[in-house]
Parts: sequence; structure tokens; C-alpha cells
Amino acid sequence: MEQAGLYIHIPFCRSKCPYCAFVSSPCRDQAPPAIYLEALGKQLQDLSAHPWCQENIFATLFIGGGTPSIYSGKQLAKLVKQCLSGFSFVGNPEISVETNPNSVSVEKLTGLREAGINRLSIGVQSFSDHLLALVGRSHSSAEASRAIEHARQAGFDNINLDFIYGLPRQTAVDLRQTLDVAISHNPEHIALYEMTIEPDTPFAQLNENGKLNLPGHDEVAEMEAAAQEQLLAAGYGRYEISNYARPGNECRHNINYWQNGSYLGLGAGAVSCFDGFRVHNVADHLQYVHCVQQGIMPFHEGEALSVEASFRESVITGLRLTSGVSLARLLERYGLEPRKYYGKVIARFVEEDMLLFDNDMMRLTEKSLPVANQVLAELV
Ligand code: SF4
Repeated sequence: MEQAGLYIHIPFCRSKCPYCAFVSSPCRDQAPPAIYLEALGKQLQDLSAHPWCQENIFATLFIGGGTPSIYSGKQLAKLVKQCLSGFSFVGNPEISVETNPNSVSVEKLTGLREAGINRLSIGVQSFSDHLLALVGRSHSSAEASRAIEHARQAGFDNINLDFIYGLPRQTAVDLRQTLDVAISHNPEHIALYEMTIEPDTPFAQLNENGKLNLPGHDEVAEMEAAAQEQLLAAGYGRYEISNYARPGNECRHNINYWQNGSYLGLGAGAVSCFDGFRVHNVADHLQYVHCVQQGIMPFHEGEALSVEASFRESVITGLRLTSGVSLARLLERYGLEPRKYYGKVIARFVEEDMLLFDNDMMRLTEKSLPVANQVLAELV
């Protein structure tokens, strides 16, 4: 039986970072609404009775946001319990929760650990205080270090730290120093994303006005190459374009996305994909709560994916993994073979040493990793 992933979206943060395009609203000093968790509980209950959910088994649960840790430990523990009792899970599910450094304490983290959460993701972004302030983060580097120490004290032995590179005014030296501090904390997993300027954000406006001072393309490429060298030397493996892990600590939930597996998404703005269908929930949390309370599925739009569209998605997401995508699996799922399907495009990439075929696997080469998005764009 195919194993699926369960995602729960918490669309609240203390404040809104000026570069962020995620579905999240600022709570400022207010408590996040309890009514949202009640709606989630009801959607969980409604969906757990759905035949697809009863026939499938879940391998991972990921509570992401937003900032899930904005809720109390007790509230999050209840949510995890509802998920675990409402759906069938494998014996050793990966259960992750995203946190921000200034919304966790040892007590809260101990409660989360006791509730069965076994993977903690902390949004550190940088260990440089001036860069954190520049990009509007509400925490300091000292708070980030403290959060990691608290997580260890609470018993977490699978910790991810999120970072962004290519920040305004950031240099390769800044990034090196940040990763030095990160490595000194010995996390099991490090996610390193390139800064992207999302439309309709304050950063997009600043960038348009030439006031953002982003590092140039070459500097960003230099940062990425240096970061890879630094992390590989520290014993991390680069298993996805933006993700590094100690062997055995790769994120199972995200691997399921990259392998284009099935997943169920609950909460405002969450997406589900199974049996060739993709469904988007409404992004507005008030509308989401209203729909669930009225007994209406909170769906905003759905699409039926053709075999070819699913095949292309599997190729594109699968190539993000450095191990690549299995040709036998593509053939089995879709009856299609990439070399035949894409013809000259793939032949050119192979000739230019951007793609390679290695037994059953097709993958990006070292040379193409820094320009992976350009390669993938031609395979959409
Ligand atoms: S903490 Fe994360 S989700 Fe929240 S506003 Fe900042 S970037 Fe967005």
C-alpha cells in the first residue's frame, strides 16, 4: 500500500516578515484564535471518515506554517493526538513541527516531545543579528541558539535549522559565519534556501525601487558553492537542492512531495494531492473556519491532473533530489520514459553535462545544481 503524508497548516505568526508570501497573518500580541484549531479538529474528523483516508496509511505528519509554535504546547499536543487517532499511521511516523526561536520554551518543547513530535524545525534564517533585523525577523541569534539548546534539553534528537542565503547586504563571509554557528550546534538537518523576491510583498516594492541591496547573481552562486563545501566537510549530505542532512535524517515528509507521492493538506491554504487530483483549500483563515463550521468542504479549487501532467511533475520534483528520479518507477506509474518523452531537450542536457543517466536513475549533475531551476523550467 502506498504511504501518504499529512500536512496541517497554521496560518499565524507574531508578525509578518517583509519577504514572506506564505499563508500567514500576524497576531502581534494577541493569542492565535482557538476557533481555528477547533475547525481543524472538525476537518480532521470529517476527512478521517472519507474512504480514501480509511484505505491509506500515513507515514508522516508535518505541522507547518506560519508559526505553529505560536499555539501553546497543550493545544499542539491535542492537535497531534487528533491526527494520530483519526488516521492510520505506520508504526514509526515522522512527526515534525515548525517553530520560531522566540516562541518556544523548554516546558513547551518537552510537552511537544511527549505528544509524539519527533522532529523539530526551527526557523533560524541567519545567526547575524544585523541581517535578522534587516529582513524583519522578530528574533535574535542568541534566541535561536537558546531554542536549539532547549530543544536538546527537551529530548529532540532530530532537529532541522532553516536558513536563507542571498539576503540583502549579505556577504559570503556572513553566510560562512552563520553556518559555522549552525554546525557548532550539530543539527541533524539543515535547509538552506535562496532568497526569492515574491510579488506583492514589501521586499518586492523595495526591490523595484532599487532599495533592497541584494547581492549579485555571481555573489549568490559563490555563497551556494561555499555553503555546499562547508556543509559537506562537516559531514552533511546534500540530498536535495536546498536540503542537507546527516545520513538517515533526511526529511521523509518532504521526500514524499519530491517523489510526487500522495498527501493530504488540512487548514487554510493547504493543498492535497491524491489519485490524480489536486485540491487547494481556501487561503483566508476566517473563510476556512466558516466553511468547516457550515459543514462545507473548505476547497477553493481542484484540478484533475492528466497522466502527462503528473509525469512531468514527477520528473521536475524528482530531479530536485540529488539521487534523482527512478526511470522504472516513472514507467510503472505513467508508462512514459523521459528520453522518449522530452526527446531533444534531454539529449541536449546530457550533451551539456547538465543531466545524467546512471542505471535506473536520471539526475542533475554537479554542474547543473547551481542553475537547477533553469534546467527544470525546460522540463515543465
Ligand atoms: S515567520 Fe515564516 S511564515 Fe511567518 S511571516 Fe515570517 S517567513 Fe512568513
